[in-house]
Amino acid sequence: MAGVHRCTVNRYSCAVFYCEFLMQLHNTLSGQKEVFVPQNPDRITMYVCGPTVYSFAHIGNARPAVVFDVLARLLRRRYPHVEYARNITDIDDKINAAAAKEGVEIGVIAARYAAAYHEDLAALGVAPTDHEPRVTEHVPEIIAMIERLIASGHAYAAEGHVLFEVKRYAGYGELSKRDLREMLAGARVEVAPYKKDPGDFVLWKPSTPDQPGWESPWGRGRPGWHIECSAMAETLLGETIDIHGGGIDLAFPHHENERAQSVCAHGGKVFARYWLHNGFLTMDSEKMSKSLGNVLLVKEIRKHAPGEAIRLALLTGHYRQPLDWNDEALADAKRKLDRLYGALRDAGDVAASEAQAPAAFFAALEDDINTPAALAELFEIVRTLNKSEDPAEKARLVAELRDAGSVLGLLQQTHQQWFAHGANDDAISEAEIEAALVARLAAKAAKNYAEGDRIRDDLKTRGVLIEDSKDGQRWRRA
Ligand code: AMP
Ligand code: ZN
Repeated sequence: MAGVHRCTVNRYSCAVFYCEFLMQLHNTLSGQKEVFVPQNPDRITMYVCGPTVYSFAHIGNARPAVVFDVLARLLRRRYPHVEYARNITDIDDKINAAAAKEGVEIGVIAARYAAAYHEDLAALGVAPTDHEPRVTEHVPEIIAMIERLIASGHAYAAEGHVLFEVKRYAGYGELSKRDLREMLAGARVEVAPYKKDPGDFVLWKPSTPDQPGWESPWGRGRPGWHIECSAMAETLLGETIDIHGGGIDLAFPHHENERAQSVCAHGGKVFARYWLHNGFLTMDSEKMSKSLGNVLLVKEIRKHAPGEAIRLALLTGHYRQPLDWNDEALADAKRKLDRLYGALRDAGDVAASEAQAPAAFFAALEDDINTPAALAELFEIVRTLNKSEDPAEKARLVAELRDAGSVLGLLQQTHQQWFAHGANDDAISEAEIEAALVARLAAKAAKNYAEGDRIRDDLKTRGVLIEDSKDGQRWRRA
């Protein structure tokens, strides 16, 4: 039963009656898919941990940027006001090391790699976020939050450091499903003489005169990694945010610690209502990471592949599953875009249409951002479009395709742009197809059936299917 329905909980318009609460998101905290009910439907807040800018982004780093960009686009379609913050970590010991090596200020390193990150993301069609806080711009808020944690008895100062005392927060370990005693026994925590307990983690640490530092009540020093996100999320989005995202590697310790800090600094209030984590991007089944040294940089991949194909390749798997990166996956994404833009090209000039992506497409995305299912719906539209001969239907399908593409951040070029810059070298144009059909007709007329079949098979391998009918040859893209 279709019709436009005003949802009483989420307060957005939807085209289905069977569900009032359309969107479901998997929450790492509960370990389940949950109905997304925002705390305030007039202001959706989302915070995603961004890069530490000491080197170029690898394709694994691009995965959360693309996945959460799709989620932000989807939320913006459903809610009037979305505030999405993704930070840049520009205080970090790896940045210090890179700056010392080159003999420059940390700002030089951070500016260089932040600019490179923006370039990579723009090429992948990732829209700018509403906020992009940098740690260096929020040190006073970080210090203020640490002071509050000391005052409330959750943190203590020792030898120029400030530490969060994990046993003062009963919920510690809930997010990453770790038991505090196990964590300590496992000793995956740094033991240090100034810690009351090995599990306690750093909120502030002292800087030597040659290290970057800021004045604080505990002497000159710099913030620990986790406190920065708690402080910036609070400053920009408020004490309780709707969605917190990042790669699954961040669930522990980073997000566990962010959660402990924020909940304790806010008198026990919920920090993030939904915790979303993307799975790893792997190469030969191993996590891609700078420390393992098996990284493929986005800027290198971009040299031989269009950004849109890289984006599509990242969206072909469900965001929570591991995604293995290889040349074939990328080549496949290019072929898919050839088909999509090919269908738009072959549809010719159609009248403008206001049609939106079909409900099944939105239903797929709203089922925990199921991009593979959403892409399947996209190709369903293409199949119908390739067969259609009715101008009104074609106009509607083209509009549906463009609209669905805009939610995924795809298909926003013209087909001319794609085929001029983005296509496979072996992508076959309409003119080439027509020429091949003329040649096949000539071969058949000369009773050279083997040649006719060869041309048909060759077109098939290039994604074009021929049908012989009483009216002659018809072709469509597979
Ligand atoms: P980093 O700069 O290492 O803190 O990473 C920035 C973002 O990329 C974080 O959300 C990480 O969880 C994510 N990330 C890093 N490596 C991968 C990977 N191999 N696959 C997916 N996400 C990753
Ligand atoms: Zn963070």
